[in-house]
Amino acid sequence: MTDKKRSPPNKALPENECPDRPAEKSTDRICPCLLSETELLRVIMENSQDSFYFKDKDSRFILSSSAHTTRFGSFAKEDVIGKTDFDFYPEDFAQNALRDEQEIMRTGRPIIGRIERWNKENGEVIWFSASKYPLYDDTGELIGTWGTTRDITDLKNTEKELEHVNQEYENLNNKLKELSVIDELSGLHNRRHFYDTLNKTMKIFARVRGRGYKSTFSLVLMDIDDFKIINDTCGHLVGDDAIRHVAHLLKKNTRLSDYVFRYGGDEFAVILPDTDLFGSKEFANRLRGVVEATPFVHEDKKHTITISLGTATYLDQVDSVELVQEADMNLYTSKSSGKNRAT
Ligand code: GH3
Ligand code: MG
Repeated sequence: MTDKKRSPPNKALPENECPDRPAEKSTDRICPCLLSETELLRVIMENSQDSFYFKDKDSRFILSSSAHTTRFGSFAKEDVIGKTDFDFYPEDFAQNALRDEQEIMRTGRPIIGRIERWNKENGEVIWFSASKYPLYDDTGELIGTWGTTRDITDLKNTEKELEHVNQEYENLNNKLKELSVIDELSGLHNRRHFYDTLNKTMKIFARVRGRGYKSTFSLVLMDIDDFKIINDTCGHLVGDDAIRHVAHLLKKNTRLSDYVFRYGGDEFAVILPDTDLFGSKEFANRLRGVVEATPFVHEDKKHTITISLGTATYLDQVDSVELVQEADMNLYTSKSSGKNRAT
């Protein structure tokens, strides 16, 4: 490792500019008060936490820094010389390193910041950031490679922990998002989500109809008949169960593509995509029949529940409010004309 022909990185200072120590007649001394290049190299090789090594063209170690040697356990530096990565690392790790070095020998191009993973026999995983360079002799001939690696295991582990924390945050956010659109009592989507969905559905079908298609959607509003009686006679908690009972029947009797909401109190809404006036009436009547025919059981007592429904089909209403008003008026008609019916 003598650098006789190579010029030193810093210009040598004249002897009289260094009063502390008399200059020595050494060709590789940059400054008489500093160490020689060889000594400086020794400082790095002995003390750097990053490891350094030099290899011949067959990837055999010709010099190994203290940090590098320490990695391999209790080897002395001299024991590493002449050996290869295959003597210390698992086969696949050594193979990858060899491939990189052969590539450098072929192209003369360095490889910078390669991330390497070392699976140790004891199950420990060590991560390195490695840079490798071509090694030239004094005549400019490529005689091997040299490299430096930094142990980035701590960084990697922190990165992984961060990833984990981020994932947990994402899950939490998704859960919160979900909770903000779900009605806690019934498990159905809530009123806020109802308007979002209705506006979106309206936009889609406005576009579809704008292209000349007849396809449309319908809205059905419904309200439990005389619900106050259940609350008054059985108590509020039983009333809650009755709401869950109706919600369950609604879920069970709608298609996957339909949207079911608890609109508020004892009121529910269903958006039926691809459903015209005829289809919505048919759906409303069927649902009315199912609810009436499926009594709500409390303490072995069966309570017949009925609902009144109002439908509206999207044709030329200007906005979702108009559509809701239309369905609401029809629901009112059902109520005022005797309940347990659909309009
Ligand atoms: P109608 O046939 O005209 O609909 O009469 P109704 O008795 O069902 O009266 P209305 O729909 O106007 O009132 C619904 C009642 O539902 C009023 C309110 O006390 C009750 N209610 C609203 N939210 C809840 C709830 O979350 N749980 C319970 N148990 N009751 C509720
Ligand atoms: Mg009611």
